Amino acid sequence: MASKMSLMVPKVTKSRYSSLCSDDELLDDDTDCYQSVSVKRGSWIDDFGSISSSQNSIYLPTTGCVSASPPREDFASTSIPVIKMGWLDKNPPQGSLIYQRRWVKLDAEYLRYFDTEKDIYSKRIIPTMSITTVVNVGDQKFEVVTHNRTFLFRAESDLDRNEWVAVLKNCVKSYQARTSLDMTFNPCVNYEMKGYLELRGLRSKLYTVVCADKVFLYKNTEDYRLGIGITSIDMNVGNVKEMDRRAFDLTTPYRIFSFVADTDQLKDQWVEAMRNSIKEALSNYEVAEQIWTEPSNQMCADCSAAKPEWAAINLAVVFCKRCAGEHRGLGPSISKVRSLKMDKKVWTEDLIQLFLTLGNERANQFWAANVPPSEALTLNSSSEERRRFITAKYREGKYRRYHPLFGNQRELNNALCINVQSSDVCETLALVFCGADVSCDTGDPDLPSPIALAQHHGQKLQVEFLSQNRNTELPRSEVKVAIDTVHYMAPPSITHNGFLFKTASMARPITEKKGKEEFSRRWCVLNDGNFSYYESDKNATPNGGLKMKEIVCLAVNPPETHGYDHTFELYSDAERLYLFGTDHPESMREWVKSIAKSFIPSGAEDLLLKEFERIGRLRYKDRLNREMSRLGWFCLVGSSLHIRLEESSADETIDLQKLQELSIQPENEVLVLVERGRTLYIEGERKLDFLGWAAAIQRAAGSSGDTLSQQQLTEADIPVIVERCIHFITQYGLTSEGIYRKSGVNSKIAALLEEFRRDARCVWLKEGEHQVDDVSNVLKRFFRDIEEGLFGQEAHSWLSTTGVSDESSRICQYQLLYSNLVRVNQATLRALVNHLYCVQRFADLNQMNLHNLAIVFGPTLFQADGKDYSAGRVIEDLIQHYVTIFDVNEQQLKKQLDEITYIIKLRDNLTPKAGTGSGDFICTVYLEEKKETAEQHVKIPAAMTAAELTFEILDRRKISVKEKDYWCCFEVNEKEETERPLHYQERVLPIFHSLGTDSHLLVKKHFSMEAMLVYLASKVEVSKHGMMKFREERSLLGLGLTTGSFNDRYFILTSTSLRLYKEIRNLQKLQSPELQCSNRPEREWPIKCLKVYHGIKKKLRPPTCWGLTVIYESEKQEKQERQQWYLCCDTQNEMREWFATFMSIQNGGRVWPAEWLKSRATSRSVPLDARFGNVSLIPLRGSENEMRNSVAAFTADPLALFRNV
Ligand SMILES: [Zn+2]
Repeated sequence: MASKMSLMVPKVTKSRYSSLCSDDELLDDDTDCYQSVSVKRGSWIDDFGSISSSQNSIYLPTTGCVSASPPREDFASTSIPVIKMGWLDKNPPQGSLIYQRRWVKLDAEYLRYFDTEKDIYSKRIIPTMSITTVVNVGDQKFEVVTHNRTFLFRAESDLDRNEWVAVLKNCVKSYQARTSLDMTFNPCVNYEMKGYLELRGLRSKLYTVVCADKVFLYKNTEDYRLGIGITSIDMNVGNVKEMDRRAFDLTTPYRIFSFVADTDQLKDQWVEAMRNSIKEALSNYEVAEQIWTEPSNQMCADCSAAKPEWAAINLAVVFCKRCAGEHRGLGPSISKVRSLKMDKKVWTEDLIQLFLTLGNERANQFWAANVPPSEALTLNSSSEERRRFITAKYREGKYRRYHPLFGNQRELNNALCINVQSSDVCETLALVFCGADVSCDTGDPDLPSPIALAQHHGQKLQVEFLSQNRNTELPRSEVKVAIDTVHYMAPPSITHNGFLFKTASMARPITEKKGKEEFSRRWCVLNDGNFSYYESDKNATPNGGLKMKEIVCLAVNPPETHGYDHTFELYSDAERLYLFGTDHPESMREWVKSIAKSFIPSGAEDLLLKEFERIGRLRYKDRLNREMSRLGWFCLVGSSLHIRLEESSADETIDLQKLQELSIQPENEVLVLVERGRTLYIEGERKLDFLGWAAAIQRAAGSSGDTLSQQQLTEADIPVIVERCIHFITQYGLTSEGIYRKSGVNSKIAALLEEFRRDARCVWLKEGEHQVDDVSNVLKRFFRDIEEGLFGQEAHSWLSTTGVSDESSRICQYQLLYSNLVRVNQATLRALVNHLYCVQRFADLNQMNLHNLAIVFGPTLFQADGKDYSAGRVIEDLIQHYVTIFDVNEQQLKKQLDEITYIIKLRDNLTPKAGTGSGDFICTVYLEEKKETAEQHVKIPAAMTAAELTFEILDRRKISVKEKDYWCCFEVNEKEETERPLHYQERVLPIFHSLGTDSHLLVKKHFSMEAMLVYLASKVEVSKHGMMKFREERSLLGLGLTTGSFNDRYFILTSTSLRLYKEIRNLQKLQSPELQCSNRPEREWPIKCLKVYHGIKKKLRPPTCWGLTVIYESEKQEKQERQQWYLCCDTQNEMREWFATFMSIQNGGRVWPAEWLKSRATSRSVPLDARFGNVSLIPLRGSENEMRNSVAAFTADPLALFRNV
């Protein structure tokens, strides 16, 4: 453990608080506003020693061993379990591009992040209740939105991201709809003490809040109000020590916080508050811990404050300290208030069990069944508001769910006597608080009271509940009976009868076909809300039956699912499934209508008009009401889910094929439907019918067939598969040479297509995981296979339109045909042509011009063989006249193209050297000068030479080359102010890889080449000697400082080495070759280890402007050596001659290709892809005929092309 403690603390950054609306301006201060400050203390061990002696139970963090982990730490980890933790990248703070790696931890109350996983104190603590939404934003990123700030995180994978989003959403939803605009978003409202405190070593004070068993540190009051803090300190491991004057230390095993209060008096108050907090932390949590294992008990039943520590033992609700005050005001005859922590003796095992069985959720289903949002409490409600609400809720029973027997004392008492013999305490609660008499006469002298009855039947919880309510004063409002239940009036009484075939009821879904022999013929009677079946129509006693109000779902099976042609299923709330069948469609229809009518309330009767396959009731929550689930009536028709939600007066419809997300949370059995703009959580109140609904909804949300309209669609009516593929190609494929023409890996294409067909919504294409060529082929195959094709029945009309020679009438004809397409085909065609338009706009990068695209997509979209070009012509026309035919807003189109350009650039910047999957690299090369408009993105295969690259660039820019134009590719180093023309045979890729960030490749004319060639041509032997000014780069003590100056030296350059002579005693001698050996050079370098650049950086003050920078890199593996030195010549000619000699020697005399322009043709003749093992489905530069034939081959036999490989 560190003896020097450091804490990330804020610097003064007042100026940054000007705007609270800015998203992340304030919070990404981890790096800019925080500095690590060493708290000057002696050894931490010393301090700890003193704590240990004064308080012998302090927790010493164990390393590794968990078995002996002490109770308090144990409590901390069990009471607020971590829901999810892991590494995430947090978005960069302003002014930085670098994501920050953070260890992120989520529990039910807080989202925190830390520098490392070992840190105890966070850098940021965000209460989950202050989070309003959590959104996916693509590329493994997600946003956590609080009321005025947005935190952006990036996970390592989509999977991980989705998990984070799911768990966060789950956390957030329990906090919905309780916040009003003026409240604080901070959960610690019941603070012991708060205010600014100086933390030693910091320049600014921290807003410090002592709240229950924790101390929170905030940057300032505003952050406190928003709930977004720096860290929280668990006081169960804390100790407070008073220090000199106004100082005091809060010591924990991990760190010492040295505070200084403003005054002596405040110091005393702080010390007391913190000591109380420790006391609270150490007080007995045993009961609370148990009660809180029921999740709904972790929030106040009245105002939803976290970790409520009080309870009304007769009402079976748990609430917070502030609400407890109001409960006490009701008097014990209404609310028997007890503390979970202090009144340990009242908490018998049975009472605790009762609170777990009922709990806030189920108790509130009774007590708070009808709370108008305007009256609901929030965390910030005033005492007056609390008093009013709590009085209305428990004294008046204003919001309770009325029992159907309400008002009928005799029936209520009777029901109570029956019910207490069962385990259903929820029903008992409802009965008692709707008037059933706890001490009523049972009519049985041996068991005279309900308590005795319950006892006799071993129902301990019933006994406990009844005992607690022996003297309870009942809610007294009787005026508002059924005030909020008018939505669901009892359905009219329906009568129907006839023969049906019935199987035995079952408790699990039917998965197998039931043969006729499994059915028995029964006489069925529907009358007065009861459905009864008899052995025959002669029998008076039914074999069995169902109450209509027990039916929760009716499902109509597709014909011939079972032995009888027409079957339907009834689900009861007792988790039983009944299957009925008949061979007569008419009889079936009659029964289904009659049964549905008799259990669907009149408020939802519009649903009955639909040809539903499933109808019933489900509990749901939505964004506005996440706290409490409500009842809704649902009916499924095709891919539409019609809903009549409680409290709404009209049906709503969800188009399941257009859902953005559909998932089942298996743990709590919730079906999550995300539509644009809203989310619906359908709860599995009962397992059996929920499973049926979940399966039916999932089926309906999937693609239902092979036509375009039957696919899962986006909001814009485009099949999800099409949109996802287009999006992926736009992101990652537009620079891919031959996109849509190259084949992918057949097995991968098939697998991906299958995945899309199964559930397109769940397929997230990801760079690295999916290859652009696979995705592009999935899109093509999808269109090729789609039933009826993209152009539908009128495909031939589209084809024949190509025969119209007049362009404008042809366009008109296309427009007409387009307007006649069905909506989905229209939207899809438009999206696709828009995409292809964009692809060809970037033809200089991907080689797919209009014509090439048409060749590929014509046969694909028309599902033809590709021999006839009219299909291609249609596509060519559509792309070419895209703006006119589709009436495109040109400004929007321009914006879209700009965005794509931006994406391409961004990707270049982010991953400048990322592979494209085939060993090629997309590189940025400039033409003539480094500026944006001169940028070219070139795919550089491993074997590409400098000359090939040069031609590639010149071709793209359509620059015609004359014989004496020496176009060359230069390696330019801006920092060193040097450049080097690459030799025409030099491989570009290794050079590109060796370039630092200061270097780039530039294609321009080499103006000295002519002179160099003339000089070399005049020489018989390529060697050179003479004086040059020499300066060495010497590193001073490795500090990067250089020293030295330019001095005259004599150089001899031969075919093997460059030698340097300091003393020139006899110049004559040296100039005669035979004497060279006898004169030892001062330095000597092998020529192949030298790299010579034009130019010397000005900072070195070269004596002339004709300088060369030379880099020497030793070849020896064991002793790698790199030197850089400079040579300066007196004239330009001198310099050119030296350079030409270097080049000539290093390249065996080949400085420039003999027939330059001819070499150009050679380099073009070999298709790039064939050379580098990248199998191209269609020859990239082949003739049109070649292309067409390969398209035809593809259509006839997709595997044919692989056979030649
Ligand atoms: Zn409360």
